[in-house]
Amino acid sequence: MIKHKINSSLFVLNIVLLSLMYWDNSNLPWILLAAFMFFFLILSYGVLFMTFNYFIQSKNAFPKPHVLLTFDDGPNPHTTPIVLDILKESKVTAIFFVIGSKAKFENELIKRIIDEGHFIGNHTFSHHPIFALLNRTKVEKEIVELNHLFINQGIQTNLFRPPIGYTNPIIARVVKKLSLNIIGWNKRSFDTVIRNPKKLTKRLLFLAKPGSIILLHDNLKQTSEALSLFLKESQEKGIIFANKNQINSFLND
Ligand SMILES: [Zn+2]
Repeated sequence: MIKHKINSSLFVLNIVLLSLMYWDNSNLPWILLAAFMFFFLILSYGVLFMTFNYFIQSKNAFPKPHVLLTFDDGPNPHTTPIVLDILKESKVTAIFFVIGSKAKFENELIKRIIDEGHFIGNHTFSHHPIFALLNRTKVEKEIVELNHLFINQGIQTNLFRPPIGYTNPIIARVVKKLSLNIIGWNKRSFDTVIRNPKKLTKRLLFLAKPGSIILLHDNLKQTSEALSLFLKESQEKGIIFANKNQINSFLND
């Protein structure tokens, strides 16, 4: 919120100064409009890009030389087990940001994710399509409801990733109240649009660089199909994926 507060204060100061300087200028409305547009541009950038850390402080890069894999939008009874099998075979640890409405039917899968050494995070209960436009009560309910489900499943986590990565002052206040640890990303796989597993493998190989946090989706067929070759080839190239201890220290840093 610090950047947002600084930007808002500067905006107000700017409006006052411009009004004083150009009070007798007929172009004053246009000058003020330009100042407002500039403020709005920065604000929009802050909403759309979590890496800007405008409203919320998030972790968007992993300490070099390691690479962290993160999977959103599961668990899925068909594709998540395949993803878990591949991770196990390649000895790679990941963070799964799960959706509550899916997790409530997949107790065994959730247990398997934890038992196999991975981390679980909150990705809201329903992954509401307009999560960033919800009021404070609804935003909090979306997060708390899934946290309760986790507790019933014997899981304790403070990890959170907002749907689509959009943030705003309301989400920031709820995050602060619930003391959530926000994990973003710095590499988007675009596995939601790249349906061809070969093309996706190629893109993932390009993205896997020291310090990368890669955003993937374990509910997608193409991701489960691309993962094996991607991990094999990147490990052969010398890419090192973060292990459980490294992820633990990163999360607690
Ligand atoms: Zn998502």
